[in-house]
Amino acid sequence: MLRLTQTKTISPLRAAIGSIRTMASVPETQKGVIFYENGGKLEYKDIPVPVPKPNEILINVKYSGVCHTDLHAWKGDWPLATKLPLVGGHEGAGVVVGMGSNVKGWKIGDLAGIKWLNGSCMSCELCEQGFESNCAHADLSGYTHDGSFQQYATADAVQAAQIPKGTDLAEVSPILCAGVTVYKALKSANLKAGDWVAISGAAGGLGSLAVQYAKAMGYRVLGIDGGADKGKLVKELGGEVFIDFTKSKDMVADIQEATNGGPHGVINVSVSEGAINASTQYVRPTGTVVLVGLPAGAVIKSEVFSHVVKSINIKGSYVGNRADTREAIDFFVNGKVKSPIHVVGLSELPSVYELMEQGKILGRYVVDTSK
Ligand code: NAD
Ligand code: ZN
Repeated sequence: MLRLTQTKTISPLRAAIGSIRTMASVPETQKGVIFYENGGKLEYKDIPVPVPKPNEILINVKYSGVCHTDLHAWKGDWPLATKLPLVGGHEGAGVVVGMGSNVKGWKIGDLAGIKWLNGSCMSCELCEQGFESNCAHADLSGYTHDGSFQQYATADAVQAAQIPKGTDLAEVSPILCAGVTVYKALKSANLKAGDWVAISGAAGGLGSLAVQYAKAMGYRVLGIDGGADKGKLVKELGGEVFIDFTKSKDMVADIQEATNGGPHGVINVSVSEGAINASTQYVRPTGTVVLVGLPAGAVIKSEVFSHVVKSINIKGSYVGNRADTREAIDFFVNGKVKSPIHVVGLSELPSVYELMEQGKILGRYVVDTSK
């Protein structure tokens, strides 16, 4: 049981920053994976333990999921610059071991999660309305703020996810980005129980959770991915139909036939521009195409005539807010979704990126920060 509330000042530098409450056991250095330039060497080495700002908690990260976004961040292939040097990772689950002087609502020993949205301004119109991830001042874990591929990481106390006591930290970690994101995307599709939803990229990290959230929300699931092992996973997770993009000669016709006229909603979580564009063709009239996956440089094209005559909707969905996070974690804690994870040491992160690049990952890899 972690009940240490002992206060200590760690070093003169930290003393200068203000009053910080930390557990006595927090070291000055730790292991982490850091890179100094986009696409450069991923170095597993000793780095300083960050000091929480007045509004931040310090989390001893035990496990972190590896999201395809971390690969984009390392490569630097999006039109938004990363901080450099950078420690990636934004699905970190761990234990609160310290906090800044203004933090309320957390105690040492609580379980906490590091999400993509590390913090936002909380005073603009978007934050006020619960669109915190769209805030112009959003601070992003593993992108503009050092993330969870280290043993200790900081997070804004308002945005950090609250994880119920007793939760398995390895299994909950993918919920913090993948789970929240697909749950929010499914809500954005405005479906009703019994409707068909297609999950494009269904056996990946986001997809494998999307299949389960969709099922738990009462929808009929058609999964799309490539290969027999991926099809097997999609079926095991509750997918009713699997369409293999490496085998199908006519994706649009096959999907429309299997769903009696096209799915009412499509959640695009693949990293394929072609797959995203195809979804504008097979979606059911009046249905909704939700864009989630972010292939570098991709453009969505929808034929205007059929877009109008079929009256389809195309919308973007970007992680989720604090309420979406709480709800997505509730589904997990209540056993409605399970994390199909493979746990490896943090030092093995480069090989996880290689497998991800080759499209060889089933479900989610999670790194154990102690190895
Ligand atoms: P992943 O690599 O685990 O999964 C991608 C899956 O897509 C793989 O299973 C792959 O086989 C499959 N795929 C590849 N080509 C396909 C095709 N033509 N048709 C159907 N499936 C295909 O990746 P992930 O971690 O699930 O992330 C997916 C994407 O979502 C990334 O671009 C990531 O940056 C993005 N993302 C967006 C948000 C958001 O808020 N919008 C949040 C998290 C991740
Ligand atoms: Zn992510």
